[in-house]
Amino acid sequence: MKLLIKGGTLVDDAGEYRQDLLIMQGKIVRRAPQIVADESMGVIDARELLVMPGGIDVHTHFNIDVGIAQSCDDFFAGTRAAACGGTTTIIDHMGFGPAGCSLHHQLEKYHRDAARAVIDYSFHGVIQHVNPQILEEIAPMVQKEGISSFKFYLTYSYMLQDSDVLQVLQQLNEAGALATVHPENDAAIRWRTAQLKQQNKTAPVWHAHSRPLACEAEAISRTINLARLADNAPLYIVHLSNGLGLDYVRMAKAAGQPVWAETCPQYLLLDMGRYLLPDGLKYILSPPLRPHSELDKLWVGIADGSIATLATDHCNFPWRQRQQMAAGDFTRCPNGMPGVENRLALLFSEGVMKGRISRSRFVSLTSTMPAKLFGLWPEKGSLLPGSDADLVLFDPRSQHIVHHTDLHDNGDYTPYEGFCCQGKPVMTLSRGEVVCREGRFTGKAGHGRFISRKPFVTGSHL
Ligand SMILES: [Zn+2]
Repeated sequence: MKLLIKGGTLVDDAGEYRQDLLIMQGKIVRRAPQIVADESMGVIDARELLVMPGGIDVHTHFNIDVGIAQSCDDFFAGTRAAACGGTTTIIDHMGFGPAGCSLHHQLEKYHRDAARAVIDYSFHGVIQHVNPQILEEIAPMVQKEGISSFKFYLTYSYMLQDSDVLQVLQQLNEAGALATVHPENDAAIRWRTAQLKQQNKTAPVWHAHSRPLACEAEAISRTINLARLADNAPLYIVHLSNGLGLDYVRMAKAAGQPVWAETCPQYLLLDMGRYLLPDGLKYILSPPLRPHSELDKLWVGIADGSIATLATDHCNFPWRQRQQMAAGDFTRCPNGMPGVENRLALLFSEGVMKGRISRSRFVSLTSTMPAKLFGLWPEKGSLLPGSDADLVLFDPRSQHIVHHTDLHDNGDYTPYEGFCCQGKPVMTLSRGEVVCREGRFTGKAGHGRFISRKPFVTGSHL
């Protein structure tokens, strides 16, 4: 069966085109100003709609076990929510495995966990300790398993020391993998948290004070310099939340260093005032929400290109569970927030419709740059003939208010409840299959495929 998308405006990261798209066997096979329908084709009327590459969310945590709790969205519910928000590929960050485990241990677990995904997926490896075996395992993971990015943490139980970070950065660079980092200064967080607890300052607002933006900015600048020392290894900063960290990224980029930053909707749209609300526990995540002045600084980075991607860090712990576990102490609340279904609509509304970014920049942030940085392009993140027919059809005129009851995850809240969004994804196609139409999920468990990603290559395309 062929599928013809007719009358829409195609938008990619380079421009807009009044063209029809022909899809066959899950691929885009032709685009032209006018393709005449025949009886072999199903036709989708896309008049007045934008036709864009499906969203790629390179930062999710489905089914994650954080030791004290298990997140409520498995790969089925998580990818279902993603699909209904216009996202057609996710790259999930693996959680920590048992102490001392190999890289392959977690990969095998994640392959099992993701079998019921409804859209295509991959994983970032996680480096939770460093020894000669782990370093040797990296190259085969890239070449044989298609895992071409890895994350390490500078805080939490399996944080790496600087000596580990240097070895890992060098090894990843040699193996053709992109290093991604969760940058927060562990010592400062521990020190401040201990002081707050001593003073009985355990309400949600103190979460933000336990890890203020200097904790993050210090670790960003340190990792950037370590990457420079490790033969200029490429580096990707996850969930950037503040302007000082962004300044360090800009300085490195200006010096020609291969560094990219990701931010998330929560850091663009929510500030630490949320922690003072009666339901402040809903917003416990790390890095925490920041003072309002940081939001504008991040929007500048979104607009000027110094922030490369928008992801979500979707990690869903229900409000009920948070209250039970925290019992009045923010340090006992599991960290994370849902958002995978809202990412595109929020950025479109707040970014495009408010005149901060163009529609092409929207596509770049949500799809094309993620695909290029993480070895998926041009099969994903483009509208080129030969690429996967992973598409989102957007109605820029439709207005909606975000309510959790309309979402498709397994949680019990959204941090964006009551947000008014201008523009909305009305149809999502995953390799030519309609997986969501008008807010109704139409996909099926197991449709998603694991994507073996290409090695990371620095080049002018980035
Ligand atoms: Zn994360």
